[in-house]
Order: sequence, then structure tokens, then C-alpha cells
Amino acid sequence: MTETRNKTHRANTSILCRRCNSNQTTRLGAEVNIHFAGLAGLDRPTVLVFPELVVCLQCRFVEFTLSERDLTLLATANTLNTGAA
Ligand SMILES: [Zn+2]
Repeated sequence: MTETRNKTHRANTSILCRRCNSNQTTRLGAEVNIHFAGLAGLDRPTVLVFPELVVCLQCRFVEFTLSERDLTLLATANTLNTGAA
């Protein structure tokens, strides 16, 4: 119930662009395939995430925040690939 209420509230609230302060922004769903950097990253598996984008229709700036689930997937993939703890 709270999740539905939050989504409804967010859908009716305009967000100011962090880059140009325009209120001409829109929220869009997306699929983002994250690659690890560098030549070594070419051999590493990618992480597919599904964030909500905030797109500025004035200056083309785009931003998103990873969900906790997606962040965990990314952190786990990074640990598996680097051996970092
Ligand atoms: Zn902007």
C-alpha cells in the first residue's frame, strides 16, 4: 500500500533538473546493462538493471538511482569478479 501511494505521489510531482533547473522533466522506465570498466571488463559478465530514469527535456540530462536489489546485484558481481570482500 505504501509503495503504491509513493509511486502515485512521485508521478504527480515534477522534479527540477539538477543540471539546468528546468521543470520539464519526465520519468521513464529503462533497462540498463552495466559493464565493468576497462579492457578487463570485456571478459566480465554485465549486470542488467531496471531503473526509473528522470530525463530533462530541456538539456538532455538523465539520472537514476539503483534499487537496493540492483545495487546488491552490482556489488555481488563486482566482488565475484575482483575477489574483493
Ligand atoms: Zn536540464
